Amino acid sequence: MSRIVILGGGTAGTIMANRLRRRYAQEVTAGSTSITVVDEDPRHIYQPGLLFVPFGIYRPDDIVRPRGMQLHDEVTYKAGAIEQLVPDDHAVLLKDGTRLPYDVLIIATGTRIAPEETEGLVGREWQHAVFDFYTMEGATALARKLSTWRGGKLVVNVVEMPIKCPVAPLEFAFLADWYFTMRKMRDVVDITYATPLDGAFTRPVASQHIGHLLAKKQIGLVPEFNAGRVDNERKVLESWDGREIPFDLLVTIPLHQGAAYLKATPELVDDNLFVKTNPNTLQSTVAPDIFAIGDATNLPTSKAGSVAHFESEVLDANIAHFLAGEALDPGFDGHANCFVETGFDQALLLDFNYETEPLPGHYPLPIGPMTLLGESRLNHMGKMAFKWIYWNLLLPGHEIPGIPTRMSMRGKHVPASVA
Ligand SMILES: Cc1cc2nc3c(=O)[nH]c(=O)nc-3n(C[C@H](O)[C@H](O)[C@H](O)COP(=O)(O)OP(=O)(O)OC[C@H]3O[C@@H](n4cnc5c(N)ncnc54)[C@H](O)[C@@H]3O)c2cc1C
Repeated sequence: MSRIVILGGGTAGTIMANRLRRRYAQEVTAGSTSITVVDEDPRHIYQPGLLFVPFGIYRPDDIVRPRGMQLHDEVTYKAGAIEQLVPDDHAVLLKDGTRLPYDVLIIATGTRIAPEETEGLVGREWQHAVFDFYTMEGATALARKLSTWRGGKLVVNVVEMPIKCPVAPLEFAFLADWYFTMRKMRDVVDITYATPLDGAFTRPVASQHIGHLLAKKQIGLVPEFNAGRVDNERKVLESWDGREIPFDLLVTIPLHQGAAYLKATPELVDDNLFVKTNPNTLQSTVAPDIFAIGDATNLPTSKAGSVAHFESEVLDANIAHFLAGEALDPGFDGHANCFVETGFDQALLLDFNYETEPLPGHYPLPIGPMTLLGESRLNHMGKMAFKWIYWNLLLPGHEIPGIPTRMSMRGKHVPASVA
């Protein structure tokens, strides 16, 4: 009997459960292998859709489905909160007292925002002049605010990296430019993008392209801004080095942390509660029968659904290798693939991995049809089609035609500054 326990039934946990059920179809039906998924939230939210909720492009109902419905019937879905791991006993304890023993454990509990970690962020102005859009509650409250806002200083701030979907805050700024232009009030809205990075994005070539777009759209860029405090009285965002940015509306991307139950097993995680994970095999660097996937890991790639999808192919094989006592496949290369919505029905596409930064060119073929690091309407259509792909291909654990797990250099142009 092999007991596979998956913690978290979000993007990564759901993909893994459905893939492993397919791999072990006969054994699961025969009862010699079990796959159990634990999650505390009955809603499965299509999180990339949260970006569009504040602008009224999606309503909350458009992006939520029941959690259990995304899992194959032969996967056991256990609704409940995880209390702690007991690696020495090879078991997980749930808050309701259940003890779940495992032969192999997959941690897929993602990341959560921790606004309470920044002084004054959850203060008097929280959900009055200070909002997040990384939660359904935040995105919905922000939609209400934007629909009646009369204009002023809009500041979009990333408190600290890493965050999930590092392009989403940029997309928010671009969509705000579009939204207020459509509402014929762009002239009374001053948009500032404040980031702890030294440019618009983490890697130099993309940073330069996106920096130009921000300037073209008259969105002010404040780099190397490490937010330390919000002064609610004066409505000012303060950095650790004493700089101040006044705001009328602050859209914050707060500090991110791994799931709180991981505090009880500090040996497994880094300071931000992200699981110490082998970057190529996805095995815990501490406990051989524990693996991690998706936002929960400490890997130096984007925290994105596309990454969870690419990781899942390698992890699916590695769970089977582990249970069979075989060597693991070190095949995950950090591949990430993100559309960046830029407003006015345009989007960019980024494709990169641990070794190769996002480069200009075409994707997935040398002639396209998508454009890397260049705006196009087709990229925007790809962004909007991702919702259908997510529910119908990604979550069931199917391949996406033409999009390989390992990053390819096909169609990419290497600028002289990088070559
Ligand atoms: C605004 C926004 C825009 C985004 N845009 C994109 C995009 O365009 N493209 C893209 O690829 N990605 C995008 N992402 C990122 C993407 O949604 C995440 O990277 C992806 O969902 C990660 O999957 P995961 O399974 O690791 O985590 P999640 O999907 O967050 O799942 C984690 C699960 O663990 C559960 N859990 C946590 N703690 C416990 C506990 N103690 N007990 C029980 N259950 C627990 C949670 O309920 C949750 O269901 C975006 C994210 C946001 C917020």
